[in-house]
Amino acid sequence: MTVKRLVILGATGSIGRSVADVVRAHPDRFEVMAVVGGGNADALAAMARELNAGFAAVADEGQGEALRRALAGSGIAHGAGDKAVTDAARTACDLVIAAIVGTAGLLPTFTALSHAPAIALANKECLVSAGYAFMAEAKKRNVAVLPMDSEHNAIHQALAGHKTDDIETMTLTASGGPFRDWDAAAIRVARPEQALAHPNWSMGRKITIDSASLINKGLELIEAHHLFGIAASKLDVVVHPQSIVHGMVSFADGAVIAGLACPDMRVPIAHCMAYPDRLPLQTKRLDLAALGRLDFSAPDETRFPCLRLARAALAAGGDRPTVLNAANEIAVAAFLDRAIPFGGIEAVVEGVLEILPHQGAPVSVGDALAIDFEARHQARRFVQSRLSAAQ
Ligand code: NAD
Ligand code: MG
Repeated sequence: MTVKRLVILGATGSIGRSVADVVRAHPDRFEVMAVVGGGNADALAAMARELNAGFAAVADEGQGEALRRALAGSGIAHGAGDKAVTDAARTACDLVIAAIVGTAGLLPTFTALSHAPAIALANKECLVSAGYAFMAEAKKRNVAVLPMDSEHNAIHQALAGHKTDDIETMTLTASGGPFRDWDAAAIRVARPEQALAHPNWSMGRKITIDSASLINKGLELIEAHHLFGIAASKLDVVVHPQSIVHGMVSFADGAVIAGLACPDMRVPIAHCMAYPDRLPLQTKRLDLAALGRLDFSAPDETRFPCLRLARAALAAGGDRPTVLNAANEIAVAAFLDRAIPFGGIEAVVEGVLEILPHQGAPVSVGDALAIDFEARHQARRFVQSRLSAAQ
């Protein structure tokens, strides 16, 4: 049995903790070379100790001293700040798990492309922001990009052995989030605690808000476009409240292959971690007879305008997905800070897309980060002007 050497970027997050669960269940199959966290030194140190990691890096320089103290006597090497994160991303390994949230994950994940033979990608914002540059680099360096997002992972499994040319459509399912049955007026004024109450998945705060606005599904369409090289016109979304069917591929002869599992991120996570093998895992098994029914409906882009904006950004191409992603990150943070209402997320994203002139797609990560920087700046101005107007 071979031991897989892992680097975990975003180790203390929701995905990172599920990765740790899988390592715990199969300690003889994995060796953790490095773990990276954003700011919580104590949580990172506890995980590094438990997983017996070789190196721990915290992105926030100010947490360096706390990390040093928390790791004292452990023999685990550690560091803080951008350089430490880059060092972790460059650690020799067999698989990098990319699970930092947001565009903050772009540079470390991109760095990992030049040092790892395979990347398990949870950080969808990487592809939304710089998809062409990211996938071109992966191809150039012959790095396998394994989709960890549940929908894309299901599709990746459905595609095994099939030709891209034979695909007619690719469909991602959406649970519909906590506001699936709410009317538009109520959604617009929803509070953070309501948006954070996701019915099926327990996830980090940013993706939970994205799931409530359905922009998450739009980001996932863009992610699928890059991962699978599929035209925007062949990508679709269907609302499926039970989150049992995760993704489907329809082929030219009318056959459809779908990926099903009970909603538990450890299923796609373990699939990526073991790939091309499979690991036995103690997860809830699918019992269709007990479920009795599965429901599907078309998404409502009037009540969920962020999905419409994301689809339009994908169709328009160029820098639009980069701008959309950056504006959304600022808008979500502002909503969580109670600076704007839920309906303000769409207003900020749309406002920034309108104000910034359409440019070509970023050809490099540096290019993407420059577009991202400007879009964030404009998004902050929108948030500020809404705040001033409210006073
Ligand atoms: P989370 O907020 O729970 O965790 C984010 C992780 O990133 C934490 O470890 C945090 O410390 C780290 N981080 C934040 N800023 C950082 C920085 N500047 N530098 C280095 N590390 C930093 O988020 P999550 O829910 O685990 O999601 C992670 C990614 O996976 C997101 O892109 C999300 O869209 C994607 N994803 C998550 C799920 C899920 O079930 N949680 C499912 C599919 C995809
Ligand atoms: Mg998903």
